[in-house]
Amino acid sequence: MTGTTGNLLLDALSVETRTTILSLCRQIELPVRTLLHEQGETPAYVYFLCSGIASVVVTMAEGGSAEVGLIGREGLVGAMQLLGSTPTPSQTFLQMEGVTLRMRRDDLKTLFVTSTELRNRILEFIQQQSVTLEQIAACNKLHEAEERLARWLLMSRDRADNDTMTMTQEFMADMLGTRRTTVTLVASSLQQRGLISYRRGKVTIVSRHDLEKAACDCYRVCHEALTALYK
Ligand SMILES: [Zn+2]
Repeated sequence: MTGTTGNLLLDALSVETRTTILSLCRQIELPVRTLLHEQGETPAYVYFLCSGIASVVVTMAEGGSAEVGLIGREGLVGAMQLLGSTPTPSQTFLQMEGVTLRMRRDDLKTLFVTSTELRNRILEFIQQQSVTLEQIAACNKLHEAEERLARWLLMSRDRADNDTMTMTQEFMADMLGTRRTTVTLVASSLQQRGLISYRRGKVTIVSRHDLEKAACDCYRVCHEALTALYK
């Protein structure tokens, strides 16, 4: 494989650099909930997503969890682990099934050191991830469940590139670090106002414009960081 891949970071590289990376990758299709990186472990592989969405989630010792990052076609799972060996408190799994290009972390680390072009692209992606993480950290503490759910659905939609997404209310509660009953109330309110529809584990964004108005400003900040990557 030497052509474009669907992964925006790889496709933004020169053909020469992309061809080198692809010669070291294996394309694999992974189902929803596949665990890509475990908490505290140095991963053997990194994953460039060509479709699907990965969630970066921190689970506390007492059991609560919240999502602190989303990764789609704009980047790769495992970029942070190219920078150093500090264990990560998060785990990363697929919240939406997808096609990935899997590569040994050591191979990518070698190219990260030797290729300025690749390093610059990955560092830009890591900066975008950091901006998103900072914003979500404050959002999870300061904003109400409805505006957070709206923000999260829009961020997922940006990466899924589809208005309809498969997700249970229990899953949404885990991602937002809130109770399922709260998600049920908030999703019902968004549905009654015609912003989303929720049926049989599928959420459809009916009015993106109105959902953006219901979301906190965190969506705008995260969206701008995302769209700045490959404009
Ligand atoms: Zn917010």
